[in-house]
Amino acid sequence: MIIFLVEACALSLMPDNLTKEQRSLCMSHIRSRWTSAEKKLHNFLKGSKIKHKMHPKISGSPDVILPKYKKAVFIQGCFWHKCPSCYKEPKSRKKYWLPKIERNIQRDRKNEKILKKNGWKIVKIWEHELKKNKNRLSDFFSKKLL
Ligand SMILES: [Zn+2]
Repeated sequence: MIIFLVEACALSLMPDNLTKEQRSLCMSHIRSRWTSAEKKLHNFLKGSKIKHKMHPKISGSPDVILPKYKKAVFIQGCFWHKCPSCYKEPKSRKKYWLPKIERNIQRDRKNEKILKKNGWKIVKIWEHELKKNKNRLSDFFSKKLL
C-alpha cells in the first residue's frame, strides 16, 4: 500500500478515494523520496558533470541547487502547485484540497522570496514540461538551467 501511495503522490494523482489516514501517509511521503522528475534531473546534471546538490538544507528549501550558476530549482507538480497552464480544480473534497494547495502556493512564494534575497535565481520546472519534452529532456534541462 505504501508503495502504491508513494507512486500516486509522485504522479500527482488525487487520491480522493483514500481514507484520511492513507492520505496523510501519502502526503508525508512526498518529501521523503525522490520523485521520478527529480531522478531525471539528477541524472542529467550528473551526466553533464554539473555540480549540484539535491534537497539542500538551506532556507527556502529548493529541490536542487546549482551553486556555480547560483540557481535554485523547484520541480513542481501541476496539481499541488496550481500550474498556470494545466491546473484543474478538484471535483470532490474541495474543502480538503483547496486550502492545502493554497498553503503550498503561499509556501512557494515565501521560499522564492527567501532564496532571491540570498542571491539565488529561481528556476521552476513544471511536471507537464517534463512530459512534453520527454524525448529531448537534456535539451530542455540545458535550456532551462544553463
Ligand atoms: Zn502543468
